[in-house]
Amino acid sequence: MTIQPEKPWLIVRLDDVRGRCNKQDRVCDLLEEYGAPIHLEVIPEDLDEIGATDLREENSRRSVAVLCHQHGYRHFNHGTDGRRCEFGDHRGFENQFEDLSAGKEQLATLLGETFEPIFSPPWNRYGKTTLDAAKAAGLQGMSVLWKEGGDTHPQFPIIPFTLDPVRWKPTPVHQPWQRTLEELLDSMEKEGSAGLQLHHEVMDTDDFDGLKNTLAELVNNGVQFPPMGDLLAGWRGF
Ligand SMILES: [Zn+2]
Repeated sequence: MTIQPEKPWLIVRLDDVRGRCNKQDRVCDLLEEYGAPIHLEVIPEDLDEIGATDLREENSRRSVAVLCHQHGYRHFNHGTDGRRCEFGDHRGFENQFEDLSAGKEQLATLLGETFEPIFSPPWNRYGKTTLDAAKAAGLQGMSVLWKEGGDTHPQFPIIPFTLDPVRWKPTPVHQPWQRTLEELLDSMEKEGSAGLQLHHEVMDTDDFDGLKNTLAELVNNGVQFPPMGDLLAGWRGF
């Protein structure tokens, strides 16, 4: 698809994918209904042959593209500062490079062409050495919840995400979907684009309805849904 410069765009990705499950299917059904490509952030160590076969079948049976990306390696917390992270400068280049290379190899072997070598760091945490390691491991870019002043790399594209609509503590609950819609529209107006991170595991019936209404409203507002890979191809640097 060609990205139309005059229209705002939205990317939706689905995190913590380990194969297929009912909640994930419901989100994918909605994205397909509104013509949005499905970006699945897969945890390499949690994917087995059966899960991989299911994901490859998803790609062939849906009317929209189903693209799998690398969500860390084990989704293991290596944090040392009280905040959760799998990747970060405190782990050093070598450890991160090993994890990223192993995860990429696993997904490429299991998923074949359904895998796009795009990285997303668990808990949206990474450092400068993570970008060096990801590039050295042959990954082509990264998507992450963007914070002003975040680390960048001159030859490694980052696709900035706007919003994770879940309030995680004390128990995970989605912020009102009306607010999510407003924040996405606001980003699209100011930046021309927006990115939405979803966690199907913490969605309930109200959230599926909320997501459906949000997608319908965004389509009414003329949004286009480019595949993430097309954005990397058109990346012009920081
Ligand atoms: Zn995650």
